[in-house]
Amino acid sequence: MKVLVTGGAGYVGSAVVWQLARAGHQVVVFDSLYQGHRGAVHPGATFVEGDLADRAAVGRVMAEHTPEGILHFASHTRVGESMDQPFLYLGDNVRNGLNLLEAAAEHGVGRFILSSTANLFGLPERVPIDEAAPIRPGSPYGEGKLILEQMLRWMDDRFGMRYAALRYFNAAGALSPELGEDHTPETHLIPIVLQVALGQRPHVTVYGEDYETPDGTCVRDYVHVEDLADAHLRALDALEGGSRTYNLGSGRGYSVREVIETCRQVTGHPIPTVTGERRPGDPAVLVAASDRIRAELGWRPRHDLLAIVQSAWAWHSANPHGYAGRGAAS
Ligand code: UDP
Repeated sequence: MKVLVTGGAGYVGSAVVWQLARAGHQVVVFDSLYQGHRGAVHPGATFVEGDLADRAAVGRVMAEHTPEGILHFASHTRVGESMDQPFLYLGDNVRNGLNLLEAAAEHGVGRFILSSTANLFGLPERVPIDEAAPIRPGSPYGEGKLILEQMLRWMDDRFGMRYAALRYFNAAGALSPELGEDHTPETHLIPIVLQVALGQRPHVTVYGEDYETPDGTCVRDYVHVEDLADAHLRALDALEGGSRTYNLGSGRGYSVREVIETCRQVTGHPIPTVTGERRPGDPAVLVAASDRIRAELGWRPRHDLLAIVQSAWAWHSANPHGYAGRGAAS
């Protein structure tokens, strides 16, 4: 299938592009390189540098490449930043998504996959969280994703565009030692802990040790990017059968302490920690119930936390300065 991937130079997007290319799909990546890395784009993909804010450029890429499907990853992605700068999320993310949807509808694109988020569930009443759980976005980031999910319903209704909204819990791990996570600034737990192991930070600050969890630290559901990519490929194939929404997690939670301990095991580094304040908006436990995608698409995550950390360490230790450390191609 010919597919357009926005944000295909970013962390999750680039991993999905690699797996799409390996599966024989023809891929066009549209990315502004605002956060993404040219060096992360699969060499067999066509790369178009462009910004979704530029409606005419979005129309041109659609006219030139006539994709049958779109996978939309390009987005501001920091929950904390969205609390301080809500219009980047309620504004840019929504407007850019709308530009894409409008162009897709004009060009008769039949399939659309949205990278959505567990942040839609805010501070959940119950875990694990299934698709029927109450939607109460915990931030403008989550609200922006919800608005896009809601627009998709009308894209289906009005234009027959079949969509999948995939709500990730904590994306983690690396697809290979050449393709991994590289954000500036880095805010995610696993890369931060591994930067301590690399000697780039003196310690990890644990955001709160007084939660109502077994060891007092927050529990999250980490899913390997390869498993996320597998879910995207399955969803793309399944769209013929109709639109769908899935929560994507392993169903197993790990505490911040357990993550740090696993990183100690994998790296052999002591990884000093400092107890910090709770991070505003952090729920104690976020774990997905992914029964729906398991039952409907036969998806199941194949990597546990150890495999996630091992793959992330292979990437970070081979590329201590991320893509920038590799020179011109990054
Ligand atoms: N966390 C932490 N120290 C850090 C970064 C994250 O204690 O330097 C915690 C954070 O409070 C959360 C978990 O690690 O409970 C995962 O955070 P991350 O930002 O990776 O993902 P999120 O759950 O926010 O999507």
